[in-house]
Amino acid sequence: MTSRRAFLATLAASPMLPAAGPAPDWGSPVIDIHLHPRREASGETRHMDGCGVSKAVILGSASLTAQTRRRMDAAPGRMKFFASVDASRPDAIDALKLAHKDGAIGFGELKSMVPCDGPEMRRIYDLAADRKVPVLLHFQEGPPGQVFNGGIGRFASILKAYPKTIFIGHANSFWANLSTDAPPDEAYPKGRIKRGGITDRLLADFPNLYGDLSANSGRNALGRDPEFAADFLKRHQNKLMFGSDCPCQDGQGAGQVSKEAWIQDKCVARETLTALKQLTGNAALFRKITHDNAAKLFQL
Ligand SMILES: [Zn+2]
Ligand SMILES: [Zn+2]
Repeated sequence: MTSRRAFLATLAASPMLPAAGPAPDWGSPVIDIHLHPRREASGETRHMDGCGVSKAVILGSASLTAQTRRRMDAAPGRMKFFASVDASRPDAIDALKLAHKDGAIGFGELKSMVPCDGPEMRRIYDLAADRKVPVLLHFQEGPPGQVFNGGIGRFASILKAYPKTIFIGHANSFWANLSTDAPPDEAYPKGRIKRGGITDRLLADFPNLYGDLSANSGRNALGRDPEFAADFLKRHQNKLMFGSDCPCQDGQGAGQVSKEAWIQDKCVARETLTALKQLTGNAALFRKITHDNAAKLFQL
């Protein structure tokens, strides 16, 4: 029987992931720990459903708490939220205290033009320890005006000084510094990783540091040196968490704004999950990084 129905059945059975279409089944439930609030109502669940994500942590400004809570109520059990502020504002601590009272389970992503070890951030690390919630930091070096949480080279002293604060690292400089030769002016360095980079050492040395694999930076770090990446995922398997930070609308790549050739018109969540599936090569390890570590840390 070579009917059209049989032909369609073989297509449906194909193990290849479709570029677009129904949500992929990743084999186990997935938590996205890095999803920003969407402008349109239900935008968060639209992205989650499109790329096969069951639960997400919404990272939005403390001023968006009421909106996020309404969207959480509309999709019971699927979302929790972090609150962020501009750390340089004098009322930053008050805003975070209020958001925590209103249900925020963490602070972030914190992305201000202040040093990672300056007084503006230190008071937030203190508050996070006091409230027993994690902080998620965007690390980005670069030319003046484009430095956020600058000074990752000095971050070990913070991890040591704040042992009761749980830190989650993310973004350009966090992932570029997997390699010892991270260029400060390049967001997505290519080529083999030179072992012994700052990020790898910090994750090994400090129990209070976790890694958020979201965004083009996380995807780039996994893709540039697959042999290193497979080993890295295994070594830090209890401290790495999947996140997307994807700006696309539907979890299939529509509205992707990145001009990077390798992510153009694609969903970061799908790309990173596909890479993690291949690099872990093992359902239990994949599940730890894409679900279990986050479920444990955030009590999701
Ligand atoms: Zn970020
Ligand atoms: Zn997406």
